[in-house]
Amino acid sequence: MAGPRAVVLLSGGLDSATALAVARDEGFECYALSFDYGQRHDRELESARRVAAALGAKDHLVLRLDLRAIGGSALTADIPVPKGRSGEAIGTGIPVTYVPARNTIFLSHALAWAEVLKSQDIFIGVNALDYSGYPDCRPEYTEAFERMANLATKAGVEGTMQLRIHTPLVRLTKGEIVQRGAALGVDFGLTWSCYEPEPDGRACGVCDSCQLRRKGFAEAGLRDPVPAAH
Ligand SMILES: [Zn+2]
Repeated sequence: MAGPRAVVLLSGGLDSATALAVARDEGFECYALSFDYGQRHDRELESARRVAAALGAKDHLVLRLDLRAIGGSALTADIPVPKGRSGEAIGTGIPVTYVPARNTIFLSHALAWAEVLKSQDIFIGVNALDYSGYPDCRPEYTEAFERMANLATKAGVEGTMQLRIHTPLVRLTKGEIVQRGAALGVDFGLTWSCYEPEPDGRACGVCDSCQLRRKGFAEAGLRDPVPAAH
């Protein structure tokens, strides 16, 4: 018999792939949710589709949201993606790749779908250790969203559901995330992290996301199956 349903936010990166693998391992029937939000490249959506299929998601919904019409980020406007920043710089401040209110927008859609699916569980692969300083990746944020969700929904107010936001990676290092994903059978060759691929399609290797990914594989003592140009 299928387990309880969970909605899992899936970007196509290694964190969300690992979060999906954790949800599956915990016995949930997983409904993956991705967004075609006007990001710079659609490579990550292709990865999300392949990861959802490989990890046996029951369904995979790709919602279109035009965040490019709002802009305000290097990922959704004509602002250069930072390359070659030091680890110290990556760990300080909020970079221009921050997409205004992105996780609030994504979690709100996940919440709506969860209510329709009668699911009480939403998984998001946020990480507050090896991350880019985005405020909507912190545990205080997801805890506040969980409280809000239980005030915002018919199911929450009627007491038929107690919604939980699961953040299984929030206190793991990037290396621990890679190890956890590998142990759960995630094929990292299907995932994609680079913010701005090279013209030949390879990962750049020098954007913040590529650098964090490299650090993760190095710490885990594993080889990244996705080659980077630099
Ligand atoms: Zn990159």
